[in-house]
Amino acid sequence: KHAAKIRLDDVKGEQSREKDKADRATSEQVLDQRTRMILLQMINRGFVSEVHGAISTGKEANVYGAVAYPDLDGPPIQRAIKVYKTAILSFKDRERYITGEHRFKSGAEKGNSRKMVKLWAEKEFRNLRRIHSAGIKCPEPIQLKLHVLVMELLGDRKGYAYPRLRDAAISGDDSEEVWRSLYIQLLGIMRRMYQVCRLVHADLSEYNILYNNRQLYIIDVSQSVEHDHPRSLEFLRMDIKNTGDFFRREGVEILSDRAVFDFITA
Ligand code: ATP
Ligand code: MN
Repeated sequence: KHAAKIRLDDVKGEQSREKDKADRATSEQVLDQRTRMILLQMINRGFVSEVHGAISTGKEANVYGAVAYPDLDGPPIQRAIKVYKTAILSFKDRERYITGEHRFKSGAEKGNSRKMVKLWAEKEFRNLRRIHSAGIKCPEPIQLKLHVLVMELLGDRKGYAYPRLRDAAISGDDSEEVWRSLYIQLLGIMRRMYQVCRLVHADLSEYNILYNNRQLYIIDVSQSVEHDHPRSLEFLRMDIKNTGDFFRREGVEILSDRAVFDFITA
């Protein structure tokens, strides 16, 4: 993936561009003026010091690496910034997550995409906070402003993000055992997310789990729903199926979807 490289200079940007053009920009690779202003504000407040290149550019959001220097001579802290795109059609798919979501009652009018992305970002921020406080490994949420979310970078000290579970290089004599234990680990995470956080991820797969050193990390929780959402159990079954299929393809002897469902919800 080649990244739209964002340096501080780009963030400052020329502010004289036509508004129209700037408004469209987040849907492409460049940051629009509003997003640049938010990033500048976050830089001024010390949540981040430098914004680096994109870790991921997707349909609904871009994720950028960033660094904060909390103390002048202290070590830098690696952060990730998720910028939700404001001009997206894919929000149509998301309606089913909102309908029936009581936390979403105010202001989630269809058609106002700027309001919608703000709500998605808020939802992700709150869900991350809940998941993180429950002791489940996930990015610690740091700061939220409109459609821009700053969180802990899951990666090494040089700022290289951990791979998705899909791309994890797990090999060696004990790889079979590692896969098996990761499967068990994930079942525990799903259970804890359900029992303690009262959340169903609702888009759980090998693409939304990061991996490092035998540890799984849950990401991408903007669409996660409360366990009392009318479709939460349907989403949970989907999560169980998708993750089970993946581990089966990796050679793990998985439990039946039914057994996993009972384990998580009982
Ligand atoms: P899209 O659907 O548009 O691709 P998304 O909603 O799937 O975006 P995420 O899954 O949250 O967005 O993030 C996209 C990618 O960015 C992830 O697959 C992961 O590789 C990387 N990423 C996200 N958050 C972090 C983080 N905190 N630390 C390291 N990498 C991250
Ligand atoms: Mn994702």
